[in-house]
Amino acid sequence: MKVSWRIGRIFGIDIHIDASWLVIFGLFTWIMASYYFPSGNPHWPKWQYWVVGAITSILFFASVLGHELAHSLVAISQGEKVRRITLFILGGVAQISEEPKEASKEFFMAFVGPLTSFAIAAVCYGLFFMLRPVSEPSAAIFRYLAFINVLLGAFNLLPGFPMDGGRVLRSIIWKFTGNLQKSTRIASFFGQAFAFIFIALGFFMMFRGLFINGIWIMMIGWFLYSAAGQGYHQVIMREMLSHVRAQDLMVRDIQSVPSNLPVQKLVDEFILKHRDRAFIVADKGDIKGIVCLEDVKKIPKDKWPSAVAGEVMTPREDLTTVSPDDDGNKVLAQLTGKSIHQVPVMKGGKIQGVVCRTDILHFMQLRSDLGI
Ligand SMILES: [Zn+2]
Repeated sequence: MKVSWRIGRIFGIDIHIDASWLVIFGLFTWIMASYYFPSGNPHWPKWQYWVVGAITSILFFASVLGHELAHSLVAISQGEKVRRITLFILGGVAQISEEPKEASKEFFMAFVGPLTSFAIAAVCYGLFFMLRPVSEPSAAIFRYLAFINVLLGAFNLLPGFPMDGGRVLRSIIWKFTGNLQKSTRIASFFGQAFAFIFIALGFFMMFRGLFINGIWIMMIGWFLYSAAGQGYHQVIMREMLSHVRAQDLMVRDIQSVPSNLPVQKLVDEFILKHRDRAFIVADKGDIKGIVCLEDVKKIPKDKWPSAVAGEVMTPREDLTTVSPDDDGNKVLAQLTGKSIHQVPVMKGGKIQGVVCRTDILHFMQLRSDLGI
C-alpha cells in the first residue's frame, strides 16, 4: 500500500511526502551527522552534527522540491495540469496529467529541472562564501548543498529516459522522427543502459569497501531500471488508449439495484449470476450512484451480509462523466484523477454505459495477449 501525506500547497499544486521519504530522511541525516560533518569539522560538539545534519537534509529536500516545482511551473505555463508533487525515497516526482504534446514543449519542460538545480547550487555557493566568516556550521551546510545540487542537476542530465536528460534526448529524436513511441523506446534503452552501469558500479564499490555508497548507487540504478521500463509502457498504453473510445470500453445495458440491497445479495444474485461488473444504484428511478466490483472489494467479506449497496457505491456527486466519443486517455484521466473506480458515459443527459477500471485493464490485457 502506498502511504503519503500532504504537507502543503504551492501554486495550486499539492505537495506530498511518501512514507519512504521518512526512511531516507533519517538515513541521510545519519550519514551527514556521523560521517560527512565530523570528517570536516572534528571539533564540533556531538549534538551539533545532528542538528546541522537534519537542517541539511531538510534543505536538500527543499532543493529537490524546487527542481520539481520548476518542471511543474513550466508545465502549467504550457497549459498542462499538475496534480501533485511527491517527495519519495530517491527524490521527487511531479505528476503532470498528460504527456507533452509537442517535442519543443517537452524539451523545455525537462531542461528547466537541472537548470534550476544548478541555479540553486550557485546561490548556495554564494551563501557559503558570505557565511564563511560569520558562522562555520551555516557555511558548511551551504557548501554541501551547493555540491549536492550540482550532483542532482548533473545526474538528472544523464541522457536516459525517464530522467530529465532522457526526456531532452527523447524530445530531440521526436522532433526529427515525428514518432513519440520510437523516440521513447530509444531514450528508455539509454535509461536502462545507465541503470546497469549504476548497478555494476555500486556492486564494484561495495566490494572495494565503500559499502554505503555502493548500496546507494545500486538502489539508484535499480530505481532507474524499473522507471525506464515503466515510462516506456506508459507511452505504449497512452498510444493504445488514444485509439479507443469510451463507448467501446463501456459496459452497456446496466441494470439498476436499490440502495438498500445487501452487498451479499448484490454479489450472489447480480455480479455472479449476470457477470456484470457495474450497476446503477437507484431508488424509484432516482439515481443515487454506481457500484462496481471494485467497490464491493473495498469491504471485507464478513461485512457483506450487513452492508448495503448504498454504503459501498460511489455516490452520484463524486462521479465525473465522459461522453461516448472521448478517448481512452480521457477516461483513464477521470478515473485516476479522482481515484474512483467507474465513470458513467453520458449522452444527452442519459447514461449510455459505465467504464470501470477493470474494463480498461481488460482491454489492455486482451491487446497484449493478442500481441497487438
Ligand atoms: Zn527533473
